[in-house]
Amino acid sequence: MIEVRNLTKKYGDKVAVNNISFKVEKGEILGFLGPNGAGKSTTMNMLTGYISSTAGQVLIDGTDILEDPKKAKANIGYLPEIPPLYIDMTVDAYLSFMYDLKKCKLPRKAHIKDVCNLCKIEDVRGRLIKNLSKGYRQRVGLAQALINNPPVLILDEPTVGLDPNQIIEIRTLIKKLGKRHTVILSSHILPEIQAVCDRIIIINRGEVAADGTADEIAKNITNKHKMTLRIEGPTHTADDKKLIAGAIRNLAGVKYVRADMEREKGIYDYDVETDGKTDVRRAINKLCNEKGWNILMLQLSDLTLEDIFLKITMDEGFDRNEISGRKSKPKISIKAGENGKLRAEQEADEPETFGEDMTDEDTAAEEEAVSEEETAGEAETADGEESAAENEESNGGEE
Ligand code: ADP
Ligand code: MG
Repeated sequence: MIEVRNLTKKYGDKVAVNNISFKVEKGEILGFLGPNGAGKSTTMNMLTGYISSTAGQVLIDGTDILEDPKKAKANIGYLPEIPPLYIDMTVDAYLSFMYDLKKCKLPRKAHIKDVCNLCKIEDVRGRLIKNLSKGYRQRVGLAQALINNPPVLILDEPTVGLDPNQIIEIRTLIKKLGKRHTVILSSHILPEIQAVCDRIIIINRGEVAADGTADEIAKNITNKHKMTLRIEGPTHTADDKKLIAGAIRNLAGVKYVRADMEREKGIYDYDVETDGKTDVRRAINKLCNEKGWNILMLQLSDLTLEDIFLKITMDEGFDRNEISGRKSKPKISIKAGENGKLRAEQEADEPETFGEDMTDEDTAAEEEAVSEEETAGEAETADGEESAAENEESNGGEE
């Protein structure tokens, strides 16, 4: 239904969208997930023919948006980031105006009524848009996108600035619309995309960083073959590290072992990476039994989609090939921000690695960790500022 081929947008020297390609099948709800400034709005503006692309092509149901914009646009309902509302009009007058603008042929009265019903704005049809709350305005924006019943809906951050109840309402509505329309929805909020979308494209710095269902994306990057162990050795000194890590390294299927921090007195953690095919947990258990060592903890380091999103979007040195699986060599590094919000865990001792595949870079990456709470807090602050600003202008609503 929608095909995007090597789409690029430059603003002067700045590349806002860099050579992105994807397809959206009929009936799909695609989530466009990315932090502020990632290039979501720019992409959506190109998809809808709102702005032209620097290079690349957009096909809507086979029609090039720039070659035959009239035909292509007839298939699209667009809710831009800032809804194009004429605030001095009543809702009714505005929707009727949009009906004319879109040269809609559906029976006017019945169609507008249907749309108002769907968007739950029936009770404000006679009111001036400027007197509506942000939530109602957003629904009016959605209603104008639905006029003429377009097969494709493109919604740019439709829930920004709404309160939690309004967000749930809009999400429910979008899900409902997804049954009859192909929908692309953008957001910088992961749970929102997860709640609504069949498929997710993570966009970062103008590039597609991941594409697939939440499960697929998580599976592609998740390090199922990695685990952390805490083992109590015989001497309770640093000598244990070498002994234990060396023994684990010798097990079949183990690719490398890194002795980590002293987490309890005289007891160390070990990061173990396997070849991805062998489940080495039993062998490790057997080894420890035989040697008389105690396993105090075994943790598989699976990544959630949230971890992945944070890694992609917070990370300076992120290599997107890791996600698409095009390169085998991981190169994730999460850096501590200036404000210290991203925290690297402090090493008590120099880490020791056992295995041929580790480079300094890898080691550095492994040692750093992100505190989810803290990064989530950061995102919230950004949101908070945004909605505070928006609330200011939409004060005086009736909700
Ligand atoms: P998002 O919607 O994901 O927050 P945008 O598509 O709005 O991101 O912006 C992507 C990048 O392009 C940002 O760095 C933004 O500053 C830049 N940008 C967007 N619009 C313009 C413009 N009209 N002129 C110059 N730069 C722009
Ligand atoms: Mg945007």
